[in-house]
Amino acid sequence: MTFPNLAASARQLRGARHALVVALLLALSAVVAFASTSMLSTGSHVFAWWPAAGINVVAAVVARRRRRWIVLVVVVVTTASISLLAGRPPAVALVGAIAVAAESWIVTYFSVDGDDEPRLTTTRDILRFLAGVLFGGVIAGALAGTSIALGLGGDPLVLGFTVFASHASAVVVIAPLALVNRFRQPMGSPLARVTHLVLLLASVAVAFAPGSTAALGFLPVPFLAWAAFSFTMSFALAELIAASAGVVALTLLGGGPFVASATPFLSASAMLELYVVTLGVTTLLISSARNERQQLEERNLASGTLLEEGFRLAQYGFVVVQKDAAVYRLLQANPAARALLGDNLAEDRVAAGSWLRGIIAHTAHGVGERSTHTSDVAGAAPIEVTVTVAADATFGEILLLSVVDLRAVRAAEEAGRLQLAREKEVVDELRRLNQQKDGFVSSVTHELRTPITTVLGFTEELADTDLDAVQSNYVAIVLRNAERLLRTIEDVLTFSKRMPTTDAPTELDIVELVRAVLDDVRLSVRDRDLRITVDAPGGPVHVVADQNDLTRVILNLLTNAIKFTPEGGTIAISVENVDGELDLAIADSGPGIDPAELERVFDRFYRASAASSDGVPGTGLGLAIVRDLVGEMHGTVALESDGRSGTTAHVRLPLAVRVG
Ligand code: ATP
Ligand code: MG
Repeated sequence: MTFPNLAASARQLRGARHALVVALLLALSAVVAFASTSMLSTGSHVFAWWPAAGINVVAAVVARRRRRWIVLVVVVVTTASISLLAGRPPAVALVGAIAVAAESWIVTYFSVDGDDEPRLTTTRDILRFLAGVLFGGVIAGALAGTSIALGLGGDPLVLGFTVFASHASAVVVIAPLALVNRFRQPMGSPLARVTHLVLLLASVAVAFAPGSTAALGFLPVPFLAWAAFSFTMSFALAELIAASAGVVALTLLGGGPFVASATPFLSASAMLELYVVTLGVTTLLISSARNERQQLEERNLASGTLLEEGFRLAQYGFVVVQKDAAVYRLLQANPAARALLGDNLAEDRVAAGSWLRGIIAHTAHGVGERSTHTSDVAGAAPIEVTVTVAADATFGEILLLSVVDLRAVRAAEEAGRLQLAREKEVVDELRRLNQQKDGFVSSVTHELRTPITTVLGFTEELADTDLDAVQSNYVAIVLRNAERLLRTIEDVLTFSKRMPTTDAPTELDIVELVRAVLDDVRLSVRDRDLRITVDAPGGPVHVVADQNDLTRVILNLLTNAIKFTPEGGTIAISVENVDGELDLAIADSGPGIDPAELERVFDRFYRASAASSDGVPGTGLGLAIVRDLVGEMHGTVALESDGRSGTTAHVRLPLAVRVG
C-alpha cells in the first residue's frame, strides 16, 4: 500500500496553497543557490555543487503544466541575479541562468507524462527520469560551459563537463525524494534499518577516512544495493543522501580516493559528483526493479487466491492425480469431487480397487487428450468423469479429472422434455380450435349466404314489378340492407380464408379497373350531390394482381370516401407513376380522420369516433381487408388527413415490368 509521493500530494493542493508551495520551493532553491556560490572551487569558474538544480526540478514538477513557464522565468531571474552577485559578467550570468532553467524543463518533460501524477516507481519511470537528467545536464553543460569559456576564459569542454557533473549529481539525489511513492507498511524492522544505516556509514567512513587515499570508493556500493533491494525506495534514497553527504564531507576533509586523483580534465569535485551520480543511478534502478518484482508477486498471489477459491467453491468436482507406476497420488481434490467420488478417494491417493482407479489405470492416451467415463452404480449418484492428461512430468503423468453430477444434468434434460411435450400439446389444441373456428365460420357464412342470395334475387324481381311509391321505397330498403348483409358475410369469409381466390394474379390496367368500379357505384350515388373526378394518364398503367382483390381494394376505399363525404362534396381519384411505383390516390372532402386515429382505423372492427357517432353504417372491416390484400400484392396503403378537411387514401403498388 502506498501514499502518493510528495510532488503528487503538493499537486493536489488548490489555489493559493499550491502557489505557496511552489513559491517556497523556488525561495529554497534561491537560498541554496546563493549558498553554493560561496563554494566556488579554487581555480575554477564553476560552482562546485548545484543542489538548486534538483529543487528547481521539484518546483517545475509540482507546478501545473500551463503555469510551468512562470517557474522557469523565476528560475532564470533568481539564478541570473545570484550569479551577478557572485561577480559574473552579465552575459555569462544570463546564459548560465537560461541553462539552469532549460535543464529543469527538460528533466520535468522527461519525468512527467502530461498532467499525469508524477512518480518514480517502475524501471521505465526511472529510465525516463535518468534520460532527462542526462539530456538536461548535457544541454546545461554545453550552454554554461561555452558562455563561461567565452566570457571568463578556460577550456569549454572541461567547464561544460564540470557543470554537467555538479548539476546531474544534484538532480539525481534530490528530485527522487519528492517523486518516489511512500509505502504505508514499512519494509524491514526499525532495528534492521538502523543497523543497516550504521553499516553503510561505517563503510563510507572506512573508504573516505581522512588521510587515507586508498581506492576503496566501491565499499558503500553493496550496502546501497542491499538497501535498495530490501527496504522501501524512500529509505534507500534517505541512505543514498546520507552516504553522499558523508562522502562529500569526508572528501572536503581530505580523505578518500578523489582527493589525490584529479586530472587536468576531471577535477576532484567533478569526479566526486560522478561518483554520487553512480551511487544514485544504482540505487534507483535496483529499487525500481525490486518494486516491479514485488508488484508481480502481489499480482500472482491475487490470481493464485482467486483460482484456489474458485477451485474450492466450484459446483463441479476437480481432481489432480499423479500416476507414478502403480501409485495414484492425489495432488488436489476439491470438496465437490470428494462428495461425488466418495470411497473412490482415500486421504492422499485414489483408493485401490475402486472404480476410479480402474478407469485411470486404463487411460493410455497422450498429453492433451481426454476420455469420458460414466458410473451408474445403484445406490450411488450417477457421475461422469472426464480424464485429461495434463503433463508427463518427472514423477509420472499428471491427470486432471473433472467430475459432473449426472442427476442435475438428467433432471434438466427431463424438464426440457416435459416442457417440449406440454408445448406440443398446447399447439395441437390451438390448431384443433382454429380448425373448428374456421369450419364454424365457413359453414355459418355459407348457410347465411344461400338464403340472403335468395332474398336478394326475389327482392330484385319484386323491384321490377309494378309497385306504388311506398312499396317501392320499402323494397329499396330491403334490397339495400340485404346487399349490405351479403357484403359483410363476404368480408368475414375473406378473413377466415375459406374462399381461396382461384385466379392467379394477372397483369391489369389499373385505369380501366378504376373506371369499371366507378361505373358500378355510379348507380348508388345517383341521388347524391357529389362530384367524382378521375385524373389518369392517357394510356394503360399495368400492375400484377388478382382482379377480384384489386377491385375490392378500390371499391372499399371509394365506398368510404362516398359514405363519409357530405352533400356538395368532391371525390378526386388519381393514378400516377411516383418514383417508379403506382400511386393510386382517392381524396375526398369529407370530415377527415383525427391524425391520432389514422393507423387504428386499419384495425379490424375499429371505427373512428366521429364515424360511429354520425350514424354512418359499417362494420369497420373494410380498411383491414384493404391492408391485407394490398400487402399480398407487395404494396402499401396509407391514409392522410389533418382531421378537418378531407381524407386521402394512397395505395402504392409495384408497376408490372413490361418486356419488349
Ligand atoms: P366497412 O368498410 O366494414 O363497411 P367502415 O367503413 O366503418 O365499415 P373501414 O372502411 O375499415 O370501416 O373504416 C374504418 C373507419 O375509418 C371508419 O369507420 C371511419 O371512421 C374511418 N374512415 C375511413 N375512411 C374514411 C374517410 N374517407 N373519411 C372519414 N373517415 C373515414
Ligand atoms: Mg369502409
